[in-house]
Amino acid sequence: MRKVVIAGNWKMYKTQAQALEFLQGFMLELDNVPEEREIILCAPFTDLALLSKNLHGSRVQLGAQNVHWEEAGAYTGEISGPMLAEIGVRYVVVGHSERRQYFGETDQTVNLRLKAAQKYGLTPILCVGETKQQRDAGETEILIYTQLEKALVGVDQEKLIIAYEPIWAIGTGDTCEAKEANRIIGLIRSRLSNQNVPIQYGGSVKPTNIDEIMAQPEIDGALVGGASLEPQSFSRIVNYQV
Ligand code: PEP
Repeated sequence: MRKVVIAGNWKMYKTQAQALEFLQGFMLELDNVPEEREIILCAPFTDLALLSKNLHGSRVQLGAQNVHWEEAGAYTGEISGPMLAEIGVRYVVVGHSERRQYFGETDQTVNLRLKAAQKYGLTPILCVGETKQQRDAGETEILIYTQLEKALVGVDQEKLIIAYEPIWAIGTGDTCEAKEANRIIGLIRSRLSNQNVPIQYGGSVKPTNIDEIMAQPEIDGALVGGASLEPQSFSRIVNYQV
């Protein structure tokens, strides 16, 4: 049985005060969410320790948005796996398209970060996906296969989540058709040695489209950016109806 995983990616939003305010509204709305749904908040580094204290004993798990591949060292501005694990972080987003686009992330550094995450006990959420230009050129499948192949060298597929995030659908309001996301996710699964890896869809997931997305047989959850920032919208998403 594949696990259902719904993760919010807060990107570079929310001070500590705003993070606490979010929790006040969000935690009240979880009573009816089926137990088997894993709920994760991937927050900015500065929020993590505080969130960890406030989420202790709750069903909501904590995720970071990046991790360096070394345990420690002269890497100004980076955060290591042991630093995250020590404060109760369990998951980490790796290879988000915004990191690939703005911060020089490559398939090679993604691979290093995935292995480091696992080494220090974190479950990575590997993001893959194509640009509009690549889709229009008919390169979606080959691009994703290449991203997967390079990212997954030496990676344990028992402790892994993958998110299919078409870049043209991120933050644009332009969702990938649910059936098309289902098709690509099926193709991603066909390249994996472990058929139980949860594969999420990400890209303009909203309260209005989550039910259709989660009705697709290949889709095991969602990675949610903008709509995870408001307690009402994210709680509707984790309370999706099938
Ligand atoms: C994301 O940040 O991974 C994302 C999918 O953003 P949005 O939901 O805002 O498109």
